[in-house]
Amino acid sequence: MSRFLMALDQGTTSSRAILFDEGCSIVAVDQYEFPQYFPKPGWVEHDPDEIWESQLRAARGVLEKARVPASDVAGIGITNQRETALVWDRATGRPIHRAIVWQSRQTAPICDELRARGLEEDVRARTGLVIDAYFSGTKVRFILDAVDGAQDRAERGELAFGTVDSWLLHRLTKGRVHATEYSNASRTMLYDIHERRWDEGLLEALRVPRSMLPEVRDSSGVFGMVDAEWLGAEIPVAGIAGDQQAALFGQRCTSPGQAKNTYGTGCFLLMNTGRTAPVSQTGLVTTIAWGLEGEVEYALEGSIFVTGSAVQWLRDGLGLIADAAETESAARSVEDTGGAYLVPAFTGLGAPYWDERARGALVGITRGTTREHVIRATLESIAYQTRDVVECVQRDAGMSLSALRVDGGAAANDFLMQFQSDVLGVPVERPAVLEVTALGAAALAGLATGVLGGGDDFASSSAGITTFEPAMEEGRREALYAGWKRAVERSLAWEPA
Ligand code: ADP
Repeated sequence: MSRFLMALDQGTTSSRAILFDEGCSIVAVDQYEFPQYFPKPGWVEHDPDEIWESQLRAARGVLEKARVPASDVAGIGITNQRETALVWDRATGRPIHRAIVWQSRQTAPICDELRARGLEEDVRARTGLVIDAYFSGTKVRFILDAVDGAQDRAERGELAFGTVDSWLLHRLTKGRVHATEYSNASRTMLYDIHERRWDEGLLEALRVPRSMLPEVRDSSGVFGMVDAEWLGAEIPVAGIAGDQQAALFGQRCTSPGQAKNTYGTGCFLLMNTGRTAPVSQTGLVTTIAWGLEGEVEYALEGSIFVTGSAVQWLRDGLGLIADAAETESAARSVEDTGGAYLVPAFTGLGAPYWDERARGALVGITRGTTREHVIRATLESIAYQTRDVVECVQRDAGMSLSALRVDGGAAANDFLMQFQSDVLGVPVERPAVLEVTALGAAALAGLATGVLGGGDDFASSSAGITTFEPAMEEGRREALYAGWKRAVERSLAWEPA
């Protein structure tokens, strides 16, 4: 009986494969890093073949480690670094250029042009996004400009565009399928998230021929069969979602008002808004969470630039700690920060401040401020910034958060999670399996292949969740948060205009 599910987690720095059993427990993991290319300052590219080869190697490796034959895998779910754009030749399957990675700023001039043409409102209204080099659309334009004759070939229907999910699907099925799904399509800046179609106006503005685009399908469903040559048996690719949306699903945030926050280098907070796609007034983006059984659900997404990386700065910049986990006992060794606040606006501030000229500040320090106070203030800044974004999301969605589900490296910090709950005044819920992104992709495939029962079964399971209940008195919570707001003010507009 085929009862295993495999997640292919194609990330920015590595390709991973995770094998789950039918109870959604991890059986084995395999992972390979691949090279990053930086052709110019601010540019980031990947070699599409290296993405594919590392991913295939991980898929084979995980089966070997688990000693599970491919024929026992009921379905594969793909989750991927989002927005990264690839263009390949339909006939040969060969990429015509390196993949342009989401982080890359190389299309900033194309974005300036779109803004100058007054397209900002259109982009926000139709795609839910802001015009930014981050999203895929301008990256396609860049590739078509960079490669001789590419525009003509694209117009003749010879070229295909895809995000990383489509690329893997193309290779896995040996070119038989050119498709994506709603969550990835919603990050291209070419897709109308309300009408659910590629947007003719934006395609025209970027001169991207319609024929290049993948078909957009539900996130859970059979996309195609993995060719038997790759893993030894045909396996259906039965679920796909972009990494943040997969994490939202893996965190079982399947009802409106449920939200998750991932604490990594930065933070990604997503709130499920159900069938409504609220337009953000605070500079967040509206995105499609997933499509299931022909219906799509939406999410509001906010990111915070510097969170875990502030902890890295304590270690590498200041030498205050030897490793990140040490921050927990240091923070607990003092009762509070003694009135100190750290605002880690190292690269400016995002929602709700949107100030590129903001710079970091350590305020409220006295002769009594110690190493422990600074460490504690750094962890607290992660929680305050999260509250800032939660407030934006609640305002934009007109919904209030009842609990926050957490994952990512820094979610292991119990002090931080308790303080987060205290500062939000809602429970913080941390699952035992922190591999929620891979779990989300596997679950999408599990639902489509019948390995997992109906959506509700998966969604309602709360096994192994650690809950941090708010324990701070409201007056103190609001006084601390008001102090944070005052500290942020000191950091704004620091760099001269
Ligand atoms: P990413 O996927 O962005 O690389 P991870 O999810 O691996 O990030 O999380 C790593 C980040 O979390 C690092 O920036 C690190 O400083 C921070 N971090 C890891 N463990 C802890 C901890 N116990 N307490 C605080 N921060 C931590």
